[in-house]
Amino acid sequence: MAACLNGIKGQGLTMIKAQHFDSILAQSLYDSNMDQETLDAMWTACRESFPAFRRYLRKKGELLGHKNGLPFYDLFAPLQTGDKPAKTYTVEEAHDILLRELGKFTPDMAAFIDHAFKNDWIDLYPREGKGGGAFCAGVPHAEQSRVLTNFTGSLGDVSTLAHELGHAWHNHCMAGLPLCMRHEPMPLAETASIFNETLLANALRQGVEHDQLLALLDTDLQNSTQVVVDIYSRFLFESAVIEGKKTHNLSVDEMKQLMLEAQDQTYGDGLDPEYRHPYMWACKSHYYIPGLGFYNFPYAFGLLFGKGVYAQYLQKGAAFVPTYNKLLRSCGSDMVADVAASVGIDVRSVDFWRASLKTIEQDIDLFVKLADEQLKGQ
Ligand SMILES: [Zn+2]
Repeated sequence: MAACLNGIKGQGLTMIKAQHFDSILAQSLYDSNMDQETLDAMWTACRESFPAFRRYLRKKGELLGHKNGLPFYDLFAPLQTGDKPAKTYTVEEAHDILLRELGKFTPDMAAFIDHAFKNDWIDLYPREGKGGGAFCAGVPHAEQSRVLTNFTGSLGDVSTLAHELGHAWHNHCMAGLPLCMRHEPMPLAETASIFNETLLANALRQGVEHDQLLALLDTDLQNSTQVVVDIYSRFLFESAVIEGKKTHNLSVDEMKQLMLEAQDQTYGDGLDPEYRHPYMWACKSHYYIPGLGFYNFPYAFGLLFGKGVYAQYLQKGAAFVPTYNKLLRSCGSDMVADVAASVGIDVRSVDFWRASLKTIEQDIDLFVKLADEQLKGQ
């Protein structure tokens, strides 16, 4: 695996010379329609948020009976949700919830979702021979979309429907544009899906019992931790490997050491130092895609931009709806910073990212509070 990684990053360094990029990162930014200033602003706010994520990780560790931070192997451990089995949903219930909750944003969204359900745009259930996961495919010539899910009735499945129908809504907002202006770059591709997920998650948290709320928050925070903390650790690791490769082939031991250092700078004391993961570079396929360096930072951008846009909606209410739709429509037409600026968002300012991360930090505060109550009760 180390030989592969050396080879692929070596190829990357050769190719950027031929293509006249200053660095592999410069090429990735170019492919993402992003600039360095935007990336720096986002990372600055992310680094500031790490202490909050570490608080979450240590508290989760405590809930699971660990003394010295969370071991890496328990990052995705589910939390006990009391004696009751987790609630499940029928497709009809999911349909109703989506119409009700996303319709609060705008009735047009409810009508659109209803149309998708009633016109068989969604291949809902798992069956033999069908692929797993979920996705949305635009059919621009027909101004329609098709969605694939594997619905089994969990809350996560309802959230997945909200996510994929967000992509479909994004396609819908681009109706009538020339094809060459419909392809949004990776950082903006998840804006509508994350926005929908956040709308739904916040609605479903109302009126939920404490132990279930703790589990719901944990599910969201597991994801945010990956997207903010882990992706930044991957960024540090990949930067160090590329730097090293300029002079020599990195050994397995060197890569393990670089990965541990990257985890130390990000997860810090949130993780148990005895149980970090020196081989993370051997189990993430993203590092091994030739021609695509730094595969992951657009995902961090996507999550935080979607949440940042949601924070704007909370501030401005219904007046934000046309702005939002205009934003989605222009995603494939310009540089990321200019698309955002067209609706008054400055992605080069650290404050925009701070506001977005603040919504996650509020969840962390609530998680810690509920966890403390549970620990006291034991
Ligand atoms: Zn998506």
